[in-house]
Amino acid sequence: TILADQIAAGEVIERPASVVKELVENAIDAHSTRIDIEVKHGGIDRVRVTDNGDGIAPDQVRLAFQRFATSKIKDQADLFRVNSLGFRGEALPSIASVAQVVMKTSDGVHPGTEMQMKGGTVQAELPAATRRGTTVEVTDLFFNTPKRRDYLKSSSTELSKITEMVNHLALSHPEISFSLVHEGKELLRTSGRDNLQQVIAGIYSNQSMKKMIAVHAENDQFQLEGYTSLPELTRASRKYLSVIVNGRFVQDLELNRAIIAGYGSKLMVGRYPVAVLKITMDPSQMDVNVHPTKQSVRLLNRDNLGQFIEDTIYRTLAQQNL
Ligand code: ADP
Ligand code: MG
Repeated sequence: TILADQIAAGEVIERPASVVKELVENAIDAHSTRIDIEVKHGGIDRVRVTDNGDGIAPDQVRLAFQRFATSKIKDQADLFRVNSLGFRGEALPSIASVAQVVMKTSDGVHPGTEMQMKGGTVQAELPAATRRGTTVEVTDLFFNTPKRRDYLKSSSTELSKITEMVNHLALSHPEISFSLVHEGKELLRTSGRDNLQQVIAGIYSNQSMKKMIAVHAENDQFQLEGYTSLPELTRASRKYLSVIVNGRFVQDLELNRAIIAGYGSKLMVGRYPVAVLKITMDPSQMDVNVHPTKQSVRLLNRDNLGQFIEDTIYRTLAQQNL
């Protein structure tokens, strides 16, 4: 029902940045190599995500807006080895229940489709001439849930949350070319050439990238690749610590602490390094079904991972005679 979708939306869609996250994750799951994000007024007035991925066949488009109708999980076993970012089938119906959504999509085989939804109901479904891939445009967010709308912050605050989200997604997927444009101004563009160093430079500046050192390590459980800053490059916030596990950005205080611990006494009080660490591990050791937003995950081997990160950072700095 629309009400159930709105309740789900309360959990999944908190603000424009959540819309961006869900739409971009869908684009990534659809094997896109290019994802363009365009927002207006901090995403409050409009979020539009265009991808060049698989698209949706005409007879599947309506289904995509139905709750729990994910195309990504076929059986229970799949749920425990999720390698797609989405799997709950909640995002599109949730967004469509609290906003106006226009989707144009084509699988490159069948004629394209344009689907218009508002407040959870279909406004129109028409054939559309569009190239392979999908564009989803979300306007009038929370038009029918005024309390949620009132809760939104200024457009600049909402924009900074979107930027942070897109930065995480771009760092997690250097093989995909991302762009973020706010009211005609390009805020980020990545090449999609699978070069993490370039993505970091694009986000944190070339200057910062020069003060980062490469990190590689491997043991029987984990493989780690990435960059971490020299102790001379620090920030007053932990938000420059990025841990990406199996392609998924993970918000985990313990793992962030492990990075900081690796620096020992080399950091001044209240200062944090800049780091981007990509971890590959057995996906069955990771439970992503903890919360609908999938921002927090449960890592069954988290203590081991924390120790591994701390040791690796410590050793990497020691090799630089730091
Ligand atoms: P989930 O991602 O959990 O499966 P969503 O509600 O986010 O659920 O999306 C529903 C379905 O719509 C997806 O399973 C997928 O089949 C389809 N879909 C959504 N966005 C796209 C896209 N950009 N490209 C291709 N298919 C998409
Ligand atoms: Mg999804």
